[in-house]
Amino acid sequence: QIAPPTVAVVMVPFPAQGHLNQLLQLSHLITSYGLPVHFAGSSSHNRQAKLRLHGWGSQSLSKIHFHDFQLPPYTNPLPNPDPSIPFPTHLQPLFNASLHLRQPVSQLLEQLSCKFRRVIMIHDALLASVVQDAKILSNTESYVFVPISAFTTFFNAWSRFPEKPFLIDSESPKCVPSMDECLPFEFLHFLANQKKCLGFESGWLYNTSRVIEGRYVELFEKLLICPEKKHFAIGPVNSVEMENKNGKHICLEWLNKQQKDSVIYISFGSTTSMTDDQITELALGLEKSQQKFIWVLRKADTGDVFTSAEVRKDQLPEGYDERVKNRGMVVRDWAPQLEILGHPATGGFMSHCGWNSCMESISLGVPIAAWPMHSDQPSNAVLVTEVLKVGVLVRDWTQHAELVSSKTIDSALRRLMASAEGKEMRKRATELGDAVRASVVEGGASRLEMDAFISHITRK
Ligand code: UDP
Repeated sequence: QIAPPTVAVVMVPFPAQGHLNQLLQLSHLITSYGLPVHFAGSSSHNRQAKLRLHGWGSQSLSKIHFHDFQLPPYTNPLPNPDPSIPFPTHLQPLFNASLHLRQPVSQLLEQLSCKFRRVIMIHDALLASVVQDAKILSNTESYVFVPISAFTTFFNAWSRFPEKPFLIDSESPKCVPSMDECLPFEFLHFLANQKKCLGFESGWLYNTSRVIEGRYVELFEKLLICPEKKHFAIGPVNSVEMENKNGKHICLEWLNKQQKDSVIYISFGSTTSMTDDQITELALGLEKSQQKFIWVLRKADTGDVFTSAEVRKDQLPEGYDERVKNRGMVVRDWAPQLEILGHPATGGFMSHCGWNSCMESISLGVPIAAWPMHSDQPSNAVLVTEVLKVGVLVRDWTQHAELVSSKTIDSALRRLMASAEGKEMRKRATELGDAVRASVVEGGASRLEMDAFISHITRK
């Protein structure tokens, strides 16, 4: 008979789609080591999380316990520098969670710490404030989960050191956009408050593989100057194993009929969308480029989370659908991104460079046409295009171009999909993808670090 586990894990996600999913995937991974996971969140975000459990084995499901907390209605705690500018409504649940999850999470830790020998809390780096009440418990340890690239994490921290420690060798990019330039005031204020709560953690978990960013994990570790803290690069935690789901979504059936590496997949994530004018330019650019494409353009998009809450009309130019019908496909619902990227016909990904999308594309060997918009995306784009050299830049963040013209889009698409340079990038992406996938299976670098993390937290 197997002894019951003496260690429990409490997972505290940051309530935004991409972040939630990463900690859910990590929960799945941890249960495969036999440990129970207590997933703590607001009722509404846990509802979203549960929708994603579809198809998971009962083994894992029985070990994930959801704790749904009712959070009070939101009131803005920040000084608003200009009351004529409304506070972005999309950010409210995030602020709310950072304020009101602390107490219920602390109570949960207390209850579990009576039942288990050790309780491990893993919280999103953006929700560090949950440790404030929890740090007093003696058999509880906390770990920071980094849901963005180690590259971005390192450069953001490094740029704040006036003396710029640790030599960055000549291969390093000259200019990495700082998050300060790419986020609105309210969010920067929020992040600064979260950062103040760091320091009590026993270690850091990174959703990346050392195969991609080992150097930046090491540099960040050096920057923290805390030798007793442990650092584990365990990613990608999102599953990159393709099940054969061909034929399920209509776009996969369409892909089945296309030649190898002939299609570019276009998607800007779950929260970022474009103006009507930009949509028109993109439509025209795609048409000019003569490339085959799958374009995710959803009616349900609620506007760019950081610029506008307006629901846009996703109007395409007159007669567009008819003109491109043999070459392209516009998807207006939730696209099966992993299956699309894993399909042999997909040869490129035009992406906003959210970290999930970058990791998925790299893991599946697909080069990227980078079109970053905000937050960590501009710096991820530098990693993809300048460091890993598996992509081209469509939108130059430093120029802050208002509208990316169809001409620029056309030339970026041709560069990626129909040039010798693009072919070279695809080759590199394939090699990198093979290495990343090998790192998450038994004996691979990321899996060994996950094994080491589990051994560490279950130590006697
Ligand atoms: N995604 C998807 N279908 C869509 C749009 C997005 O499956 O139609 C998934 C995608 O695979 C990724 C996540 O949603 O895992 C988006 O995360 P990312 O960090 O790239 O961007 P965000 O949405 O956080 O801006």
